[in-house]
This record gives sequence, C-alpha cells and structure tokens, in this order.
Amino acid sequence: MKPAERMKIPRQSMPEQEAGERARNFQEVNTGLAREAARLEAQRCLRCKNAKCIAGCPVGIDIPAFIEAVAEGDLDKAAAVLYEANALPGITGRVCPQETQCEVRCIRVGKGEPVAIGYLERFVADWARESRKEGGAPPRPTGKNVAVVGGGPAGLTCAGELAKKGHSVTIFEALHKVGGVLVYGIPEFRLPKSIISQEVAGLEALGVRIVCNTVVGQTVTIDELLGAEGFDVVFIANGAGLPVFLGIPGENLLGVYSANEYLTRVNLMGAFSFPACETPVLSSAEAVVVGGGNTAMDAVRTARRLGADPATLVYRRSREEMPARIEEVKHAEQEGVQFQMLANPVEILGDEDGWVRAVRCVRMELGEPDESGRRRPIAVADSEFEVPCQVLIEAVGTRANPVLTQTTPDLATNRWGYIEIDDNHMTSIRGVFAGGDIVRGAATVILAMGDGKQAAEAIDRYLAGKRASMADETA
Ligand SMILES: Cc1cc2nc3c(=O)[nH]c(=O)nc-3n(C[C@H](O)[C@H](O)[C@H](O)COP(=O)(O)OP(=O)(O)OC[C@H]3O[C@@H](n4cnc5c(N)ncnc54)[C@H](O)[C@@H]3O)c2cc1C
Ligand code: SF4
Repeated sequence: MKPAERMKIPRQSMPEQEAGERARNFQEVNTGLAREAARLEAQRCLRCKNAKCIAGCPVGIDIPAFIEAVAEGDLDKAAAVLYEANALPGITGRVCPQETQCEVRCIRVGKGEPVAIGYLERFVADWARESRKEGGAPPRPTGKNVAVVGGGPAGLTCAGELAKKGHSVTIFEALHKVGGVLVYGIPEFRLPKSIISQEVAGLEALGVRIVCNTVVGQTVTIDELLGAEGFDVVFIANGAGLPVFLGIPGENLLGVYSANEYLTRVNLMGAFSFPACETPVLSSAEAVVVGGGNTAMDAVRTARRLGADPATLVYRRSREEMPARIEEVKHAEQEGVQFQMLANPVEILGDEDGWVRAVRCVRMELGEPDESGRRRPIAVADSEFEVPCQVLIEAVGTRANPVLTQTTPDLATNRWGYIEIDDNHMTSIRGVFAGGDIVRGAATVILAMGDGKQAAEAIDRYLAGKRASMADETA
C-alpha cells in the first residue's frame, strides 16, 4: 500500500465500556481492538527509515517491525519482535503513557493523529497470551543463586531475564502477592489482575521461586541473604511506596486515607466485594481525592465506582499540568468525576464524632515555571471555600520506604533515600544491584522494567566474571 493511501486511513478508536455503565463496575474499561481494526491501524504506519517512535520507547521496541507484521497478519512474528524488547507488553500496552513516549514522536503527529502504537502493542500481547506457546529447551543451570527483593515490574522483569539465563532466582515480596503497584495500585478496570497472574505463572514455569510475606530488612537482612542464605547476588527493587501527606490540620480524622491504603484495600484486598471479602473500605456519598497524577485518577475513579456522588478531584495546578495519562483524565471525566482545578486544600474539617465532613481549599493561580518546568501555583488571597466530603483521599506522592536501607548501613543512598547505583546498576555493596522506583523515585512501569532488564544483563556479566575467576582458582 502506498504512503498516500496509508495516510487516508483514520486512527482506529479503542472500543470501551459505555461510561455510565462502567462507572458502576470494576471490569476493564478498554476492551481492545478487533483483528480487522488492528490490521487497519497497522497499515497507517509509514515504516519510516529513521523511525523516531523507537527512540521514544524506553526499552527500544522495534515498533515499525512489529506493526508491519500486524499489517501482514503475521502475529507470531509481531509477538516475537515485541517480546524481544519487552517482557510484559500486555501490561505496558495498557498503562504506558504513550502520548509522551513513542506516539508523540510518530511522524504522523505532524499531519493528524499518531499511529496507535499502544493499542497495537496490547492487541499483539493479548493474542500472544492466548495463542502462543513458549518453546525451547530450558537453559543449563549455572549454579548461581540470585535474590530479588520486591515483586513489582522491575523485580519480575529481572527475575525472568535471569531465569532464562539459567540462574536460580528467588523473589522475596513483602505482601502476600507479587506484582507491586500492578496489583495493589492500578485498579482492575485499567489492568486486569488475570494478566499479571499469567505473567507470574510464566515466571514460575521458568523455575523462579516466589517467597511472599517477607519484608527484607526486617524478616531477613541483605547481609543474611548474601551470607547464611547463600545468595551470590541481590537485586533490590522494592519501589517507592511510602505515602507522602499534605501536612495540614485534620489529617487524623476518620475517613482520611492515603491513596496507597485506599487502593490497596480495594485492589489487593478486594474491598469492593465486602463483606464477601474481609477488608472493608468506606464508600460514601461524597468523596474528595487530592492530586493530579495516575494515582489520584485511579483513586477518584475507584471512589466513583464505589458509589461516591460526587467524586471530586482537587488539584492545585491546571489541567494542562496534570501528570496523569491523558486517557485516564478523559475516562474520569466521562465517568462523571468532578474537577476542582487550581485549588489547594489547607484544612480537613471534622464533625463532633471525629469524622471528616469537608475540606477547606484556597484558589490558586499559576506563576512562573518552577524547577520541574511547570508553572508554580500561588494562593489567591481571601479565596477560601469548602468542598463537602465524608471520605478524603490524599494522592500527593510517595517516597522511598526506609525499612531496608536502615538495616543495610553500607548501602549508599541520596538525600531523598533513593539507592545510588553505578552504570551497571550495582550499588555501593559489591554483588548488590538495584533498579526501578527505589533508584529513580516514583516513575513508570516501563522504566522499572527497563531497569530490571539492564540489571539482569549486568548481573549475568558479574556472575560470569565470578564463574571465570572460580575456574582460574581451581585450574
Ligand atoms: C496507583 C498508581 C498508578 C500508577 N499508574 C501508572 C501508569 O498508568 N503507568 C505507568 O507507567 N506507571 C504508573 N504508576 C507508576 C508505576 O506503577 C511504578 O513506577 C512502578 O510500579 C515501579 O516499579 P517497581 O518494580 O520499581 O516498584 P513497585 O511496583 O512499587 O514494586 C515494589 C515491590 O516491592 C515490595 N517491597 C517493598 N519493600 C519491600 C521489602 N522491604 N521487602 C520485600 N518486598 C518489598 C512491594 O510490596 C512491591 O510489591 C502508577 C503508580 C501508582 C501508585
Ligand atoms: S514514527 Fe509513526 S509512522 Fe513512522 S515508523 Fe514509527 S509508528 Fe510508524
């Protein structure tokens, strides 16, 4: 097909559950492109020689190659290209911010809409999960033992890559389930948990051992893992899940949650089906969520599904500055979420029984850009107003949890508590590597996975060096 004909094909839209209906259930919002729509969308790709979209992908997927295979109907090949660079495309196809990564660089942006790279990635991954058989003989065991701390995207990716190289890998996870933010943070309606379970089953089939309910730094220390427990290497990927609070009066009132607690109750503990499950969560007539990122969007859309009316998002900057994915903002709006932009909470107000009844906010205006490049919000004098609510959820950021670093004094961290690494992902302790949010600060799933993959390569080189020096010693 000639480029001029390709240019005439409109971007295919993602089929989704009707907004009024989905605002009352937890099933996935996007239902995925049908095969014919995917083929049409793939034909929109111009197969650029100097494909700028690839440079926008943090793990360097050969985007035109996999899309061309979709256009030709060769889904096996499309999947092979995709999996070569990305171990979890069914997840990234759903949660990556494509609009700021690959799609924003697509040449078609200049003349309309970019190729829907994320939709195609998800389409191929979903097909592969159902149709493709993993083949090949198992790798020869190397006899080396690797401990992975944390079963989020960084830890899972690193574990999978190392297991494929023949190393014996054990993941130690603090919670009762692996998946990290993918299971306790991102809701079912954006990322069905069955996808993660399937990826985890794949890892177990590769021989990866998973030990849950183990807080490294408390149940067992890094020193013990490298000593008595007999591991040659440790990869730390424990994320940055400690919630930050606003620090305003009223935060101790009943009905105030961190987004972390609220989402964990609903996603990981299944609170939306209380009392069928044991964990309750407050579902209320009026809920306010504070923040403007993906976490805030997930929390406010969850509150809406639990019956909040209105479910209101309070954000101190304007819509243009919101860090959340554009699709989440659009979906939230369609589901009836109210937006209070340029508003900042100054106090949470309670009733005589200690329950939250409202949040007092001030109006903000935008000044000069700050160090993040976004315009700094400034309070407008005498502009206070109240938003009534019986539940208030704070989604204003997270930081490194100090449990592990405090019990590993030789582990160098920066002033925010994030672990410092060299170009090979090695920390200040020989044989201890790190990656994901615990190194970068809160970032994205694909960056965490990229770290897991790069660290696995560095660990493999390190272990090969160890094997070589052992061979020298015994020669
Ligand atoms: C609600 C929410 C929504 C998000 N939405 C998106 C999105 O749409 N797109 C996107 O790209 N990114 C999104 N992100 C960010 C993304 O999820 C993270 O950047 C990513 O999960 C980081 O991966 P990680 O493996 O480094 O850490 P995590 O996913 O945080 O996993 C760390 C794991 O380590 C475990 N752990 C912690 N301490 C210990 C310990 N001491 N011992 C053993 N285990 C431990 C934790 O229980 C957890 O399972 C979102 C984040 C949140 C919170
Ligand atoms: S930039 Fe766009 S059109 Fe060009 S190869 Fe990438 S996806 Fe295709």
